[in-house]
Amino acid sequence: MRILITNDDGIYAPGIEALYRAVADLGHVDVVAPEDAQSAIGHAISVLKPMLVRPVHVNNVFHGWSVAGRPADCVKLAMMELLKPPPDLILSGINAGANTGINVLYSGTIAGAMEGALFKVPALAFSLELSDTMDFAMAGRIARTILDHCLAAGVLPGTCLSVNIPALKHGWPRGVRCCQQAPVNWEEHYLSESDGDGHMIYRLNGRLPEHHDCPDTDLAAIREGYVAITPLRADLTDRQRLRQIAGWHWPGSFP
Ligand code: MN
Repeated sequence: MRILITNDDGIYAPGIEALYRAVADLGHVDVVAPEDAQSAIGHAISVLKPMLVRPVHVNNVFHGWSVAGRPADCVKLAMMELLKPPPDLILSGINAGANTGINVLYSGTIAGAMEGALFKVPALAFSLELSDTMDFAMAGRIARTILDHCLAAGVLPGTCLSVNIPALKHGWPRGVRCCQQAPVNWEEHYLSESDGDGHMIYRLNGRLPEHHDCPDTDLAAIREGYVAITPLRADLTDRQRLRQIAGWHWPGSFP
C-alpha cells in the first residue's frame, strides 16, 4: 500500500512524525507537508504565489517534501506532480488540537484529507484534543487502531473521515463514537492593544463553549473521553434551504 501523509502544523511538527511512525510498516509512506505552521488556513490554495518544494530529512525518521504552501497545495502537488504512482490512502495530522464543530471549516488538517477525497482517494484526518501532556505517540497508536479497522471494513475512494482523539491525560479513550459535527460556534473575542504609533493590534481569542446541548456530536464525544469519527464531504449545500428558496418567486428573465 502507498500512503501519503500531510498536516497543517508543518513538516517538523511532532504530530506528523508520530503519525509516520504509527503507519510506516503498512507500506510505502511519502510525506508532503507545509514547511511551516498552517493551522486555521482552511482549504486555501496558492494561486497568486509560486511554491518552493524542497526534499527534507526530518529527525532521522523520514524523508519528505517541504512545501512553501498550504495543506491542500501539498496534496495537489503530491497527486499531480510528486508521487508516481499516486497513493492509495491519504492521512493528515496528527493535529495539535481537536477539529470538532465549526473547526471543520477552519482546519487545514481536514482540508488536507478533503483534498485527497476530491482526488477519489480514501482520506483520514487525525486531531488530538489540546492538553498539558499532548502524548502524540499514544495518539499515533490510537490513529493506527482506527485506521486498521477502516482498512478492514473497506474504506471507499472519496471518503473523508475526521477522527478526533480526546485528551489522553486520563489514559486510553473509552471507545469510538461515529457522530456528526456539533452545531456550535466559538465563543470568541479580540484582545486589542495599541502599537504605540496610533494603530491598533488585534488578536483573536476564543474557545468552543463549555456547556452545550448537543449530545451525539463530535464535541460531546471527546469531552466524554471517546474517539469521535465524522464523515465529511465537500458539498456544503443546505438541501432543506435549497427546497425552500427554490419555491420563492424569482424573476423569469433579465432585465
Ligand atoms: Mn494545526
